[in-house]
Amino acid sequence: MPPEEPQSEHESGRLNPEAAIARQLTGELYCLSCGYNLHGLSIRASCPECGVPVRATILGIVDPHADELTPLSFPRLSAIGLCAWSFGALISVVVVWLLRGAEVLRDMGFATWNPTFLAWTGLIGLIVSMLGAMTMIRPHRSVTRWEALRSSIGVSMYAALIFVYDAIYLGHDVIAPSPLFSPGGDALGRSVLRIAMFLLVAGIVWGLRPSAVGLAVRSVIVRTGRVDRQSMMAVLASLGIATLGDMLSIATLYTPISVAEVLEIVSVVIISLGSVLFTVGMINICADTVRLYPVLVRPGVGLSDIFETNRQKSRRTNGI
Ligand SMILES: [Zn+2]
Repeated sequence: MPPEEPQSEHESGRLNPEAAIARQLTGELYCLSCGYNLHGLSIRASCPECGVPVRATILGIVDPHADELTPLSFPRLSAIGLCAWSFGALISVVVVWLLRGAEVLRDMGFATWNPTFLAWTGLIGLIVSMLGAMTMIRPHRSVTRWEALRSSIGVSMYAALIFVYDAIYLGHDVIAPSPLFSPGGDALGRSVLRIAMFLLVAGIVWGLRPSAVGLAVRSVIVRTGRVDRQSMMAVLASLGIATLGDMLSIATLYTPISVAEVLEIVSVVIISLGSVLFTVGMINICADTVRLYPVLVRPGVGLSDIFETNRQKSRRTNGI
């Protein structure tokens, strides 16, 4: 190992990051998470002590003020909030499946079960999801005003979504409890409400996506593991499919009976397909947030100042 000049390392690094990387790779490079000496390790390797990739430490040198490296203001709150957001939403989706399952059992004569408490559970899930989403508005200091505004719009749409969810599953479905196979007099109203619900969910996804992706990117940095950044787009696409199904369902009201019968079947198939895809997308997002949890609460991921760490270490070890 060539002898280094630890006292000038910091200053030259600020002027020329490339020189700093070259110097640190050939000389001393300390893990940005735990401070372990990464000297001699490949750039593709991970820290043998804590598993943080060497690349993450290098990013810290190139851009110590990268948004992804800004410490979370309340790491545990952010981690819990993200999981509450995804799982609360999943609960409200699972509830709809259970409600439709109960409907099928009723229509087939197997049961008379019409569980309104389930719809209440779904509403509570949505409220939990909204509370979780609130933690995503400004998880760290580097969040721009526009990003915070966008997340706030997403969160505020929850209020309308809760209202619509209530109107469908605790209003309409209690009056006409077989919406899937024998929709009552207000099938049009229900389809319109469902489309409104999809639009609101799409708005929420649009609003919260930058914040969620910003948190997910931390995972790429801290682990080598890759996060599926498309999962939220997949959810949007599945909503589009379900919306198409509901529009066909509306169309059946304005077409001759012979056509309407076919359209009705097609619409049920398309709505089911969209619902399955949506649910799978939601489960994927939940899995992502669970994987993110340890990354977000991990101390040292905030990496206040990589230069500080390396300089301090160099000073302490006197460049050896
Ligand atoms: Zn380490």
